[in-house]
Amino acid sequence: MKIIDAHMHFAHFPGFDAVAREAGHENTVEHYLAACRENGVVMSIVMGNASGGAPQYGGIVPEVPDLAGPFDVTHYNQPREIAYCAGIQSEKLTLENCEATARETERFVRTPQCVGIKIYLGYNRVYADDPRHEPLYALAEQYDVPVVFHTGETAGGWGLLKYAHPLTIDPVAERHPKVRFVMAHCGNPWVLDALEVMAKNENVFVDLSGLLEGRLSGETYFRKQKAYFDYLRMWLDYADRYDKVLYGTDWPLINIRSYIDVMKQLIPQEHQAEFFYQNALRVFPKLAALLPKEEKR
Ligand SMILES: [Zn+2]
Repeated sequence: MKIIDAHMHFAHFPGFDAVAREAGHENTVEHYLAACRENGVVMSIVMGNASGGAPQYGGIVPEVPDLAGPFDVTHYNQPREIAYCAGIQSEKLTLENCEATARETERFVRTPQCVGIKIYLGYNRVYADDPRHEPLYALAEQYDVPVVFHTGETAGGWGLLKYAHPLTIDPVAERHPKVRFVMAHCGNPWVLDALEVMAKNENVFVDLSGLLEGRLSGETYFRKQKAYFDYLRMWLDYADRYDKVLYGTDWPLINIRSYIDVMKQLIPQEHQAEFFYQNALRVFPKLAALLPKEEKR
């Protein structure tokens, strides 16, 4: 089965090397690409964590992938199988610099490999509907790229949870009906709230990345967390919108093989092709042009 990982990290970032080893991986380009080939992952979408370089318009420059070397916006130097979302440092936004930040971000969004914008709610103490984000939503609409929000619990005790609650996405989604929004991690553990916001708003999607970490087998995870997965499955079935649920790992947090195995147990067989592959192509339309010829259909 072909897979698109719609949420992972690809950066020299403090702690990622150790986290990757915990998951049975190495935080290197070669190791990641080999693991993808072994598991049918044909394309991955990075949530940017590394420096995007110097500003040109006096705004905040978005964050990008850099595992394959320092990023260069004019000459893409990360692997062909890696697309990315430009990461926004919302706490650095002001009403004065937010327009300039959208212009900085546009330099990235214009390029083929930048397929979306990532906003780190919770880690940044800024609400989704803060007016400082508005120029970025206008940019997303103009270029037809989605905005991915971190939603739900924050790693390592950072930030404040109230900014990352899925219900905070509802007013933004309503105000911008032409922009697609993805709630990363399905708002975990507020999965019911996230799925209700998704069900109510046609332009809202969820990804199931980052629900587990480490390297236990898929079967072990599923058994250990049976009550959790029963609960999640209940609300996924209740919402009944498997066309709006995306596969993602949050690599390097979790073992790739294990996570695929867990998700194959969670998602009904008849929805697996859309969950693992097709939904990502609809939410991130720029991906299609990046797929190798043999993957295009
Ligand atoms: Zn992530």
